[in-house]
Amino acid sequence: MSTSGIPEEVLRNEALIKRLEEVAKDTALLHGVLMRTKDKPNSPEVVNYAPFTLFPTPVPTALFHQALQVQTHYNRLVDRISQNPNFLQEALASTIKVDDFTAKLFSIYKQVQQEPQTMPIVLGLNRSDYMLDHSADGRTSLKQIEINTIAASFGGLTSRMPDVHRHILKVANRLQERQQILDNNPAAGLARGLAKAWELYGSERAVVMFLVEDVQRNIYDHRYVENELWSRDIPVIRREFEDVCRSGSLDSDRRLFVDGQEVAIVYFRNGYMPQNYKSEKSWEARLMMERSRAVKCPDISTHLAGTKKVQQELARPGVLEKFFPEEPETVALIRATFAGLYTLDMGEEGDRTVEMALAQPEKYVLKPQREGGGNNIYGQEICRVLEGVRNSTERTAYILMDKVQPRPCHNYLLRADAPLRLCVCLSELGVFGAYVRKGTEMVMNECVGHLLRTKSSEHNDGGVAAGVAVLDNPLLV
Ligand code: ADP
Ligand code: MG
Ligand code: MG
Repeated sequence: MSTSGIPEEVLRNEALIKRLEEVAKDTALLHGVLMRTKDKPNSPEVVNYAPFTLFPTPVPTALFHQALQVQTHYNRLVDRISQNPNFLQEALASTIKVDDFTAKLFSIYKQVQQEPQTMPIVLGLNRSDYMLDHSADGRTSLKQIEINTIAASFGGLTSRMPDVHRHILKVANRLQERQQILDNNPAAGLARGLAKAWELYGSERAVVMFLVEDVQRNIYDHRYVENELWSRDIPVIRREFEDVCRSGSLDSDRRLFVDGQEVAIVYFRNGYMPQNYKSEKSWEARLMMERSRAVKCPDISTHLAGTKKVQQELARPGVLEKFFPEEPETVALIRATFAGLYTLDMGEEGDRTVEMALAQPEKYVLKPQREGGGNNIYGQEICRVLEGVRNSTERTAYILMDKVQPRPCHNYLLRADAPLRLCVCLSELGVFGAYVRKGTEMVMNECVGHLLRTKSSEHNDGGVAAGVAVLDNPLLV
């Protein structure tokens, strides 16, 4: 099954696997691939290794580099979308009529737009995710699953993964494969973006505020980025929406203060799901932060640029050209990564989408405007849902997407709460982008690293935080 990855005889060597399992877990702990436990997510007294694969997963070198190369263009695309009110308005018009969460974000966007833009510093830290589609004719191509413009995670923990797999491969005496794992340090690159924006904000005492959840299972992932900032003498605080509600304020210049400290950057590691806003007060806090002079990562328009509805609208003929009128090469590079995306807006086009999905549901994924894994709809469930909403505007809360079919690969998944077993796995490659714009000038635009996540093929959906996928490394072949 594995195509020039770890040979089957190695995967089936029980004695070796047993030995490697123990080595692997200890190595992950030693290298700091850590997560707090489900039971005690806020206690540093009990930690565990974050779930990961025993072996790295083969990824064709050319497709890997294609994903890295298109990233700076995706950065510019997201930034341009965020500056185009007409596009955002039109793209999201049908969605916000039926999707409350997107509507609330959009209403903050509209309110902020009325105000004078005092601080034209924009910081974008995003992650574009892909699967390698394996078509019937045997070709493999890079297809984007989505782009995350808010709270894109695992840039920290994944920075430690190369050394973990290299050590496992050394113990397994797979010295050749060891060479096929690249260095990777998104944490450093994300921190570079934050540091640049902090510098441009221009106040030495002002802090970077990580806006976080009350459940802090994935805190170590944040800490890698945080500590990069501290090492540059940039102060960092961690606060929740509640804290901002309680002690946040704007001064007459709309500088943001929280607990008496001026905030240079609000780095959202929370705020992407409806459940994150526990009351109206959280929404008020979000509005206050958006209205402030602080750099928001992301600002509300960049957050909206990452919605699945926007992704679907971008796939319409002629739309990318509007964002890059003078750059046909850029358009071609970005478009080459698009999977089929279809509107469910009311009208003939949307009606055709419904018919198509009902006729062959296994070929598609039905997606609402949600983040964080576990929200998408697959197979027969697509028919059930669409039949319920096919003649109502409710269907416009969703988009339809071609189901990407990656080639499965055998691997072992290590997680604290489950016994080790050989799984048929599917992988998703993420690429981290960081950019900073001051006024009209892009002062930083980089691809800062990658993330490979692997899941058992029995799961359709879900990321690492959702408990489905685990951390991995590409083995370049
Ligand atoms: P989220 O914002 O919740 O992460 P995604 O669009 O990334 O939403 O979907 C979640 C997961 O569902 C992905 O990580 C992937 O495993 C699966 N998935 C999403 N879209 C597709 C697709 N078009 N083809 C195959 N799998 C998909
Ligand atoms: Mg997402
Ligand atoms: Mg995703």
